[in-house]
Amino acid sequence: MAEVKHDRFVVDRAEGVWLYDADGRRYLDGTAGLWYCNVGHGRTEIVDAVAAQMRRLDNYFTFNDYTNEPAEELARRLSAVAPMDEAKIFLTTGGGESIDTAAKLARLYWARRGQPERVHFLSRRQSYHGTNGLGTSIAGIEGNRDGFGTLVSDTTLVAHDDAEELRAAIESIGPEKVAAFFAEPVLGAGGARAPQPGYLEAVAKICAEHDVLFVADSVIGGFGRLGGWFGVERWGLRPDLITFAKGVTSGYLPLGGVAVSAQVADVFWAEPGASFPHGPTYSGHPTVAAAALANLDILEREQLLARSRELEGPLHDALLRLAKHRAVAEVRGGTGLLGAVEIEASVLADDKGLITRMQKAVREHGAIVRVLAGNALVVSPPLTITEDELTLLAETIEAGIDGALAT
Ligand code: PMP
Repeated sequence: MAEVKHDRFVVDRAEGVWLYDADGRRYLDGTAGLWYCNVGHGRTEIVDAVAAQMRRLDNYFTFNDYTNEPAEELARRLSAVAPMDEAKIFLTTGGGESIDTAAKLARLYWARRGQPERVHFLSRRQSYHGTNGLGTSIAGIEGNRDGFGTLVSDTTLVAHDDAEELRAAIESIGPEKVAAFFAEPVLGAGGARAPQPGYLEAVAKICAEHDVLFVADSVIGGFGRLGGWFGVERWGLRPDLITFAKGVTSGYLPLGGVAVSAQVADVFWAEPGASFPHGPTYSGHPTVAAAALANLDILEREQLLARSRELEGPLHDALLRLAKHRAVAEVRGGTGLLGAVEIEASVLADDKGLITRMQKAVREHGAIVRVLAGNALVVSPPLTITEDELTLLAETIEAGIDGALAT
């Protein structure tokens, strides 16, 4: 059998906004890993908090009346900043598990409220909601849902930018059959697309008018990426549920969760004898919670949420230097510390591998970017990046695009 050759890019160590490969070459981490390393790499404060917690109580479950102080404190701190009334926090191990948790909470909420026919989920084309069963079933990126056989039934996709299409879909399905609408505030994997002005406010209103639960998927948007704690504050939204992950620990350890408004949570946690029959093994893991607490300390002390808001304009400006490039169709940014450089369809048309070669050429020039939606180079740097480094990131992207076009 012929030997299959795989390219490997071995990441060896990281410090601040810089990664180092096995040969000691350094790269600007333009993506903060997978949108998560908001406080940057090499924070010994998080390492020390994790080690101390491991020595005291390495792990334990949080089912029934079992709990631990780091998980309790994390839930208290997240609840205090969640944009909803008396949020309850359900902890998981990542984004996809949080989406599935939110979906099950939504359906069971309606069943417990005596409306078991409210099972339908709506989501947006080009959305990404993780790799688990429900997240795959509501995925808006077709390639992520095709080929897996029968998925969860009662799901409908609507346009990502048309609130009236959501209203029409709810009305044609029948509001009495709809459980929830899922939306990323800014579409991440779909290519770093900010919402049209007024879109999110309009869909939140449409959901409220039809008693449909509004689930904000802030797995990318939270913990400063979009300038607030839960990724929805800048639009004044108060969702019924918010899924989060990534930036809650800056990726140092895997953690996610769902913030649940009191109105929904009370069905499960306030009524005597009621419960939510859903318990991931590592929910409330004390060591992971300790990493999150140390990460929140850094975000607060260094005022990184405000810094993200300050840097979103400079990041967008830096990327805009590429807007006039002959290979560039569009530059997106200015809503949070993320952005995209979309390559012209005509440039990519007869060269399928070009976009990946561009990404690798950017890396050769010293920066990490990702290819998303098949046509965009996407960035989401650590919130600690400097303005000079943002300029360097944009210059490196330009050099990589030019380098790939020249080959
Ligand atoms: N939702 C969104 C918006 C995401 O971007 C992601 C991951 N990129 C997920 C959910 C799934 O998170 P995880 O990979 O941690 O399961």
